[in-house]
Amino acid sequence: MGSAPAPHTPGICEDKAQLERSYKEAEAAFDTVRTAIRQKVGSSSKNEYVILARAEDLAWYRLQRAMRELATHIREHGCGISQEAPPPPKPIW
Ligand SMILES: [Zn+2]
Repeated sequence: MGSAPAPHTPGICEDKAQLERSYKEAEAAFDTVRTAIRQKVGSSSKNEYVILARAEDLAWYRLQRAMRELATHIREHGCGISQEAPPPPKPIW
């Protein structure tokens, strides 16, 4: 982090790669929570469900933030042309 923004060859941007890794991690964490909630529906106590719902909120918040950071970097740096842009799982902004 902290490298000067300079014109880059599209597709080989270290910062973007890092942000993409963060995004993928956040996405995986969100999926994990979602799966846990689906498995618990109907069988968990209210308390368990509240904890899971809170974890889901947090995971979703992190996922949104990772997406925003990636999108902002790509927009400002112009390095997002050739690689896949992750489609948002639900509309956010
Ligand atoms: Zn970049």
